[in-house]
Amino acid sequence: MDTKALDKQYIMGTYGRFPLEIVSGKGSLVYDENGKEYIDLGTGIAVNTFGIADDEWVEAVTAQLMKCQHTSNLYYSEPCAKVAEALCTRTGMKKVFFGNSGAEANECAIKIARAYAAEKKDRDTYFIITFKNSFHGRTITTLSATGQDVFHVDFTPLTEGFLYAEVGDIEGVERFIAENKVAGIMLETVQGEGGVVPMPLSFVRSLEKLAKENDILLIVDEVQTGNGRTGELYSYMNYGITPDVVTTAKGLGGGLPIGACLVGEKAEFTLGLGKHGSTFGGNPVAAAGALNVLSRIDRDLLDGVKAKSEYIFKSLEGKKGIESVTGLGLMIGIKTVRDASEVITELREKGVLAIKAKDKVRLLPALNIPMPLLEKAVNTILEVV
Ligand SMILES: *Cc1c(COP(=O)(O)O)cnc(C)c1O
Repeated sequence: MDTKALDKQYIMGTYGRFPLEIVSGKGSLVYDENGKEYIDLGTGIAVNTFGIADDEWVEAVTAQLMKCQHTSNLYYSEPCAKVAEALCTRTGMKKVFFGNSGAEANECAIKIARAYAAEKKDRDTYFIITFKNSFHGRTITTLSATGQDVFHVDFTPLTEGFLYAEVGDIEGVERFIAENKVAGIMLETVQGEGGVVPMPLSFVRSLEKLAKENDILLIVDEVQTGNGRTGELYSYMNYGITPDVVTTAKGLGGGLPIGACLVGEKAEFTLGLGKHGSTFGGNPVAAAGALNVLSRIDRDLLDGVKAKSEYIFKSLEGKKGIESVTGLGLMIGIKTVRDASEVITELREKGVLAIKAKDKVRLLPALNIPMPLLEKAVNTILEVV
């Protein structure tokens, strides 16, 4: 049987896959099972930060792979200690816990918020405010944190203790805090799965103020927005706020599974000995990938992300067939007049891979996509819409 038939027969039908197999690639060019070439604007959902099979990244990862592939957290390991150092020095956060995915990073953040409140206030203070249209993961608890009913159907009872506020409604958040014992506020500065919608600056700043005044932990979910994607190392830096907890994953490993939960001063010591763990968390090969990725996200690269973003906005905004362009950096949502799925299909036929977010065409290109490829892809988009 070929791959598609095997997949259909033996893999649970949880994914609506595009009708092609990605076999190989180099940077922002990828090839399918028939050798057809595509410009990749999806990067495995913002994971392949420097595209596919990037030389420097491959070298860093394989060097570690040949030394030692796994140690468990029973032993010290240099790559994960160095990633933690890099994350803390570049964010001002104090400590890191490593998992393997975005959902795990968020699970850790939720545990921190509850444990912090249990210690500082009481055990009944466990509510976490999240937002309508948010996305925080697929485990039962991160699903509960996700403010979209469509994901909840069939999985009840959900984890207790989540309150869903409306983005922009600061009075609503204040009311939740006044009427419930709240331990945390968790947000995506740009809601990715929710349609690539940035939160207003003043709203995010007000959330920071409210959290501070009430000794509530401010948790920023940077799973998708993080690691240079929005033109800053982490998206909260665009907003000039200081979160208490930052979670990230997707692009951190550059293509290998790694998730991280960073804590600031307030909750630095909240999760002590025996309070959390992960067998694979901080895996040295994934950590070597992350170290390479972080070492290359410098001001030059970030300015490049901003310039490419500006180019995309300028080229697409107000053009025929395009209703709106939203997002930040190289995380972009395009509302097209034509149905988004139709647009994505036609783009694919013309050699451009884009993905969907709600009813929008979503672009998440590699941070180092060469300008000529980006221009070619943008022209194809203009043609198709
Ligand atoms: C993708 C995503 C997650 C979940 O990450 P997984 O690695 O799939 O568990 C959580 N939060 C946000 C904002 C995401 O985009």
